[in-house]
Amino acid sequence: MAKKEFKAEVDKLLKLIIHSLYSHNEIFLRELISNAGDALDKMKFLNLTDEAFKHEQFEGRIDIYLNEKEKSLIISDNGIGMDENDLNENLGKIAHSGTKLFAEKLTGDAQKDSNLIGQFGVGFYSVFMVAHNVEVISRKAGSDKAFKWTSDGQSGYTVEDAQRDAHGTTIICHLNDEHVEYAQQYRVTSLIEKYSNFIAFPIFLHYEEQEYTPEGEEPKPATMVEKQANSAKAIWKRSKSELSQEEYNDFYQTLSGESEEPLFHMHTQAEGSLEYTTLFYIPAKAPYDLYRADYRPGVKLYVKRVFITDDDKELLPIYLRFIRGVIDSEDLPLNVSREILQQNRILTNIKGASVKKILTEIKKLASDNPTKFEQFVEHYNRPMKEGLYSDFVNKADLLEIVRFKSTNDESAWTSLAQYKERMNSEQKSIYYLCGDNAEAVRHNPLVQAYKKRGFEVLLLSDEMDQMVMPMVQDYQGIALKAINKADADDGIFDDAKDEEAIQAVEGVAEKLKEALGDRVKEVRLSARLDDAPSAVVSSDDDMSLQMSRMFQMMGQ
Ligand code: ADP
Ligand code: MG
Repeated sequence: MAKKEFKAEVDKLLKLIIHSLYSHNEIFLRELISNAGDALDKMKFLNLTDEAFKHEQFEGRIDIYLNEKEKSLIISDNGIGMDENDLNENLGKIAHSGTKLFAEKLTGDAQKDSNLIGQFGVGFYSVFMVAHNVEVISRKAGSDKAFKWTSDGQSGYTVEDAQRDAHGTTIICHLNDEHVEYAQQYRVTSLIEKYSNFIAFPIFLHYEEQEYTPEGEEPKPATMVEKQANSAKAIWKRSKSELSQEEYNDFYQTLSGESEEPLFHMHTQAEGSLEYTTLFYIPAKAPYDLYRADYRPGVKLYVKRVFITDDDKELLPIYLRFIRGVIDSEDLPLNVSREILQQNRILTNIKGASVKKILTEIKKLASDNPTKFEQFVEHYNRPMKEGLYSDFVNKADLLEIVRFKSTNDESAWTSLAQYKERMNSEQKSIYYLCGDNAEAVRHNPLVQAYKKRGFEVLLLSDEMDQMVMPMVQDYQGIALKAINKADADDGIFDDAKDEEAIQAVEGVAEKLKEALGDRVKEVRLSARLDDAPSAVVSSDDDMSLQMSRMFQMMGQ
């Protein structure tokens, strides 16, 4: 039987994982259980939707067998299984973003880095932190052939024919001497509680138990016992009043693979014309892939508790891609196909209601918990601005959420509502200036001129602002105006318009334009500059160019 080399990337990755996560090597179990759970989800779906698999009385389960003497941990599932090709494809190379990105994201803190592993789709390989040899025996549903994949995690792997009674996967981990703890019942039990309590299928632990024998008596032979180690409940289906904050946080950690607590959660159980449950979380920090085109969506779709997909980027609008959670519908058909999902009326309605709910809760956070809201702004102000650009239906809510820097207090964030509050009775518009650099915007002579006359200016230096702000147009009927555009004068500077002075500099603008040539689009006289003789302002009117830049920024 020929030995196959790992793809070059895997080789590097294995070394990387072992070095960077070693002090947190317990997470290998979380990764193996999560894979078993995924395989069971897929099998359950087939069983419910595919004629060829409907006859089976399917009860998904995960069994973990511990043997301390033999230093082994065996994890077995009756999920969808893998055939020879799957074994080569899934365990021989890296499916997703790959080693390089993973390596770039490593922080050197094993605890933090261990969260990355699940997100990058490289979780399986973490088993080689604790095992010197791993056998994967698998049989794919619908096939009568089984295969065994074996590797020491160093010198490639082999695949050969094997025996297995039914579909599913069994993974035998031959533990290193220093990792025998993972064959011990109390250690494994507490790990399952910590990481895998909310896996939707029961996890049964099998281990040897030695009954206590009083002194002088013949010791009884040890017996094998079987015990369920997780709660295996869909937490989102339980009533809000019976769930504790801790349970919500634990579920978040199982769901997202994050070890940090979320910023907050939103749990909705809707009844009436549409029946569905949603449980959404906002992570404390923006996900690492927020601005990557190949970001992983964070919301899972279930139909009557059956997992349908976690790979649909349309379940929520793209600007809410940082949200983690589940949508569980009672009304969708189980065999709803991916293509149909996109245009499904039921799902569209759930999506619409979910966005409203999420934005309402975020608005509430601003008044209920300013500290948390500040954290939200720090991480998510930008995606909220994307929303202003793309979600007109919810523009009013988004305008209450988005925050700006302003001349009122350059170190603090302000809302448009607060700006409006501060406006004096003569002020006609809300003024802002966009630029590429915060310092330059702040010191811009136009800004200084408005400020001097008692008008507050929003200081916008995110490159996204130049595209978003023109879309806003007004806030509660008050126009938003860029102070470098012609119509932002509002008569404020009428007293400075001195006909004689204008005559005196006649022709200067033309001369300057001549001298500067193609480097500027236009040179204009302005009454708005008090002390400074001139100001450079941008006029970014090319919409198609702006659009493509916008999509780039959104990671599209
Ligand atoms: P991810 O789970 O993010 O895809 P992993 O490295 O954890 O990445 O697993 C790689 C792939 O191996 C999985 O996507 C899956 O196709 C396959 N796999 C792993 N464990 C199992 C299992 N118990 N049953 C079926 N397939 C599995
Ligand atoms: Mg995995």
